[in-house]
Amino acid sequence: MSRILIVEDETAIADLEKDYLELSGFEVEVENDGMTGLARALAEEFDLFILDLMLPGTDGFEICKQIRERKNTPILMVSAKKDDIDKIRGLGLGADDYVTKPFSPSELVARVKAHLARYERLVGSNIVENDIIEIRGIKIDKTARRVWVNGEEKQFTTKEFDLLTFLAENPNHVYTKEELFREIWDMESIGDIATVTVHIKKIREKIEMDTAKPQYIETIWGVGYRFKL
Ligand code: CA
Repeated sequence: MSRILIVEDETAIADLEKDYLELSGFEVEVENDGMTGLARALAEEFDLFILDLMLPGTDGFEICKQIRERKNTPILMVSAKKDDIDKIRGLGLGADDYVTKPFSPSELVARVKAHLARYERLVGSNIVENDIIEIRGIKIDKTARRVWVNGEEKQFTTKEFDLLTFLAENPNHVYTKEELFREIWDMESIGDIATVTVHIKKIREKIEMDTAKPQYIETIWGVGYRFKL
């Protein structure tokens, strides 16, 4: 549920805004004083702010400016005077919208919804989920380059990680040591297919319960290796 803070000294207006927003399913907090409003705006998590311009303590200009220095949360400014709104726009304090009193409560609710939806899209688009592979107790986070075996994190060198990830991403496919060497090590790398054998051994020590009877990376005699699905 979205949480909204209203900073408004006229209680009748604050109550009206609160009632309409609560009817629309929002959680609403009200502060009648600028100082307290600013303190809560900075200290607590809100999804949107509705700020009156003329307030005792600290005015709406200052609250807007201070919120914007720290947060990207949508801000709706409310003012009795059209002139004040032109002034706020001119100051470029970073408010997202301006409403002149008297306004229709349903218009305010519509604007609140529009700004919340827009903000959620904006925030949502920045969240990139980590790329994760999970196979029978092994979890590989490709983005963070971390590996867990039955919930316990294990440390891998860069090449061990690359080799394990490559095999796990292509399960049930048998690769020869030559193919794996070409895939994981670049052409200039010093080493040969014995490097692959050494790395497979190191990986098995970290992921297998019994390295003599591997459950994950199988040796296909005379051919190479396969990650068992
Ligand atoms: Ca006022």
